[in-house]
Amino acid sequence: MADDGRGGHRAGPRQAGEEWPMSEPTPLRRLRVAVEAPQHSGLTGPLDYLGPQDVTPGTLVHVTLGRRDVMGLVWDDLAEGQALTDDEPLPESELRPVGEALDALPPLSDRWRRLVEFAAGYYQRSIGELALAVLPPQLRELDAKQLQARLKKLDKADAEAAKAAAETPAVVPERPALTAQQQQALDAVLALADSATPQPALLWGLTGSGKTEIYLRAAEAALERGQQVLVLVPEINLTPQLEARFAERFAGHAIVSLHSALTPAQRLRHWLAAHLGRAQLVLGTRLAVFASMPRLGLIVVDEEHDPSYKQQDGARYSARDLAVYRGHLEKVPVVLGSATPSLESWQHALGGRYRRIDLTERIGGGALPRVRLFDMNRLERKKGVTTTLSVPLLDALRKRLDRGEQSLVFLNRRGYAPVLHCDQCNWKSDCPHCSAHQVFHKEDRTLRCHHCGVSTRVPRACPSCGNPDIAPLGRGTERLEEQLAQALPGARVARIDADTTKLKGSLESQLAAVHEGEVDILVGTQMVAKGHDFRRITLVAAVNPDGALFSSDFRAPERLFSLLMQAGGRAGRDAAQAAASEMWVQTWYPEHALYQSLQKHDYEAFAGSQLHERMTANLPPFAHLALVRAEGRTVEAARDFLVAAQEAALALPLSLGLLLYPPVPMAVARVADSERFQMLIEAGSRAQLQRFLRAWLPELHALKRRQKGLTRWAVDVDPLAI
Ligand code: ADP
Ligand code: ZN
Ligand code: ZN
Repeated sequence: MADDGRGGHRAGPRQAGEEWPMSEPTPLRRLRVAVEAPQHSGLTGPLDYLGPQDVTPGTLVHVTLGRRDVMGLVWDDLAEGQALTDDEPLPESELRPVGEALDALPPLSDRWRRLVEFAAGYYQRSIGELALAVLPPQLRELDAKQLQARLKKLDKADAEAAKAAAETPAVVPERPALTAQQQQALDAVLALADSATPQPALLWGLTGSGKTEIYLRAAEAALERGQQVLVLVPEINLTPQLEARFAERFAGHAIVSLHSALTPAQRLRHWLAAHLGRAQLVLGTRLAVFASMPRLGLIVVDEEHDPSYKQQDGARYSARDLAVYRGHLEKVPVVLGSATPSLESWQHALGGRYRRIDLTERIGGGALPRVRLFDMNRLERKKGVTTTLSVPLLDALRKRLDRGEQSLVFLNRRGYAPVLHCDQCNWKSDCPHCSAHQVFHKEDRTLRCHHCGVSTRVPRACPSCGNPDIAPLGRGTERLEEQLAQALPGARVARIDADTTKLKGSLESQLAAVHEGEVDILVGTQMVAKGHDFRRITLVAAVNPDGALFSSDFRAPERLFSLLMQAGGRAGRDAAQAAASEMWVQTWYPEHALYQSLQKHDYEAFAGSQLHERMTANLPPFAHLALVRAEGRTVEAARDFLVAAQEAALALPLSLGLLLYPPVPMAVARVADSERFQMLIEAGSRAQLQRFLRAWLPELHALKRRQKGLTRWAVDVDPLAI
């Protein structure tokens, strides 16, 4: 649509000959309709249209935007005297009428709209963009008749399911008797619902301490009250596992999942089931936080610390944080569960904003694996020693092999080697489009850039000097797999990472092979460190985790600690073997405080020291950050935009008291021939940051139009990776 730069609220003037039906008897009124206008057009609020008097806010309507027919969502009328911009609203005579309404669908609730409004405001996107983006894509394409057909089909399917359920005898699912500690935790969770304004709960429990059982019981109580339950998990990979557990416990109940791997038709069906109040349980990834649920009674966020809860493009929302806000809006309990809570949540618990509930024992009394820090300095220093599998580790692996137990070897880097190198002329396999190396993948003899995706054949000789001896430097999971197979002949070594699981269903079948005992040594990235309930693993080894200790990202140690705790949690899940289970960490820095806390399984000590560091350095959760990123065809375009943005910021009185860092190149400065810069803004309070951003962003939209060569920019509120 035409961008008039006024940040206004117009859908474009009515075109000649465009008239609404003469048969319309009731007079029309001004309606605000949220439509999907890209954020960068500078539109913020819903647009004005004309529509019938009796349209309820929350109704989907077709409208014309520019020349396109798009789906819109009728928003609330502005309160008396409330205006979003300084512009005069268009006179009614210039407004376009709305098209067909999808009124067979119950309107999206007031509370749902408040959630969207909050998220749009907080993450600095337009209401329309966010509201439409979080609806199932297929819903946006339906006309009223098609919708009616869908609803009818759903009715029929539901009736059949109900009939089938009535005919099968009800089985009472088996539930384990709770341990005393679980009972206490459950009582505390259930007590939350008694409050008119429940406090969010942080369920802090070791892996295997029975957190999921608490979710199940709390869900059961909500279902008994006739309410709906929303359960969020960080990764799609983990949804089938959790879904199976819920399905088993709640046989005969309506459970749906919501995540991006569903087909568009499935996603619509599941969303409708939630929206119509028929689905009693909704399980999903971050996008499910926006599921419309009229009788929501409980929200669970499993592994609340997981970075996947943060959306990385478009509206960069944190589903964990929005879940907490939604709980507050709807006055329902929110349970955040983790063995290694995010430091933000931990600090909230320390400060009393969240109610902390602890599970300190593993079910069955199993011990956590003994952590052994293997000091790499003890190895003879020679070329390539950083990538050596140490002899003691190989011995430990061999011992497991002899006993018929499984091991997990964890390395967070896929491919064969991160770079190919010529030691004659120092050529390296640099990506031509990025400031990064192309990773050597041996299996298909390619060099692949993990940033832009470009893939080339491995050259036979050095492209620069012709030396035929170009060699891989360093090690990824593919090489680790090969080295392990060589070092331990007869061992069945398997690898699970993003490369081995591209095909649909391949992850499931590979995991099944591990569960069935067809694998002795599993090599993998963080993909295998999370969540999976492996029963026969007694050794977990992290062969090269040191990188994160010295990262420029202040959250890297927090992520490493939780990943290692989680990886360690894969060992000894079977209590009978727990005593003999071990976690190996090969490190050059065994004295590092992070590893020392890990060795004692002491999250509390780790969190305490990290929080102390953050407080001293004035970092979250003691400060609030926003990051503006810019991409341009040249370094100048990206940098100049941010420099101008900073000048504009300094001219705003609201920037007083904020810390505006100078623009710097991003860690990987060039990706796909795009130069990337970022600029950090730090504020003492959320409110201060929000007020500033609201005033500043319109200026950035205007600057973008003037900055030649700037391709994209975006603001990330509460950024996770810096
Ligand atoms: P977490 O979610 O904290 O990792 P889970 O809830 O998955 O822990 O529990 C670990 C294992 O213990 C699961 O196999 C679960 O079925 C089992 N479990 C949980 N609570 C009990 C209980 N009270 N009695 C017996 N087994 C239990
Ligand atoms: Zn060379
Ligand atoms: Zn690249």
